[in-house]
Amino acid sequence: MRVAVFSSKPYDKRFLGEAAAEADLEVEFFEAHLDVRSAGLARGYDAVCAFVNDDLGAPVLEELAELGVRIVALRSAGFNHVDLNAAHRLDLTVVRVPAYSPTSVAEHTVALILALNRKIYRSYNRVREANFALEGLLGFDLASRTVGVIGTGRIGLAVATILRGFGCNVLGYDRFPNPDAAEVGLVYVDIDDLVARSDIITLHAPLTPETYHMVNTDAIGAMKDGVMLINTSRGGLIDTAAVIDGLKRGKIGSLGLDVYEEEEELFFDDLSNQVLQDDLFSRLLTFPNVLITGHQAFFTEEALEAIAATTIGNLVAYAAGERSGNEL
Ligand code: NAD
Repeated sequence: MRVAVFSSKPYDKRFLGEAAAEADLEVEFFEAHLDVRSAGLARGYDAVCAFVNDDLGAPVLEELAELGVRIVALRSAGFNHVDLNAAHRLDLTVVRVPAYSPTSVAEHTVALILALNRKIYRSYNRVREANFALEGLLGFDLASRTVGVIGTGRIGLAVATILRGFGCNVLGYDRFPNPDAAEVGLVYVDIDDLVARSDIITLHAPLTPETYHMVNTDAIGAMKDGVMLINTSRGGLIDTAAVIDGLKRGKIGSLGLDVYEEEEELFFDDLSNQVLQDDLFSRLLTFPNVLITGHQAFFTEEALEAIAATTIGNLVAYAAGERSGNEL
C-alpha cells in the first residue's frame, strides 16, 4: 500500500517513518498542506494521511477518490475538518486516532493556566532585560479556586485530575457525564452554574455545530469578572470577536489559547518574515494577559509515538481487509 503523507514535518517523518518501517507500507512525505491545489500529489497512492488543518472538504475528497485514493488516515482525534457525508458518498474510508496520551494536552492546558496566572512569559522577558520589578505580575493561589471543565472526556478528566492535585474545586459540564468523574472529585453542574461559579473555565468539548461559538457574548456576560478562559480544544468553540471585546472591557481577566478558529492560515509554519493578515489574531497578540501557543498541546514524544502507531495500525488493518475500529 502506498501512502501520501500531507503537511509533514521532520517530526512526522521521524515518528511515522519509524512506525511505517515496521509495516509493509510505502510512505512518501509531502510538506504541502492538502487542499484543492495540492490534492494531485496523491496520484498513484492508495492512502492519504492528513493533519488537523488539511482541507478535507467535498472538492478535495472528490479529487482524491478520482485519483484512486481509497482511505484517508487522520493523524488526529478531531475530525471536524472532514466532510464525512462526502467521504461516505464517495466510498472513501476515513480513520482517525481517537485517543493518544490525553495527558499531553491536559498538561499543556495546566501549563497555560500556571503561566498566565503567574505571568511567567512576562517575567521571562523582564529578567532578560534586568527588570526585576514585580508590578503587573500579581497572581492568585490556585488552591481552593473553582475551575470549570466543559467536556469531561479523556482530556477534560485528565485536566480535572491534575487540578484536583493543586487543591482546586473542579466543576464539570458534559452532555454525557463520565462515570470516572466522581473518583477524580469532579462535580457535575449545569452549564449556567459552571459559567457563573468558575474562576477558570477550560474547554475540552469537540467542535460540533452545537459547540460552535459556545463562548459568545452572552456566555461571557454570565462569567465571573476577571475569569481566566482556556481553550486547547478547537478554535471554533470561541467567538474571537466577543472574547476580544471581553478582554477590552476587563471582563475576561486572562486568556490562554492553543487553538484559534482561523488557525489554518497560521499555525505549524514559520511566518515570522510575513505581515500577518488576520486582524483579530493580531489584536489578540497585543494584550498583556493573553498567552497563545500554536496548536502544540499534543506535541510530546509519547503522543507522537502513539499517533504514529495507531495511524500505521489503521492503514495496515485496512490493507488486510480488516476494521481497526477507528473508522468514522
Ligand atoms: P473525548 O471524546 O474523550 O471527550 C470529549 C467530551 O466532550 C465527551 O465527554 C463528550 O460527551 C463531550 N461533549 C460533546 N459535546 C458536548 C457539548 N455540546 N457540551 C459539553 N460536552 C460535550 O475527547 P478528548 O480526547 O478529551 O478530546 C477533546 C478535544 O480536544 C478533541 O475534540 C479535540 O478537538 C481536542 N484536542 C486538541 C489537541 C491539541 O493539540 N490542542 C489534541 C487532541 C485533542
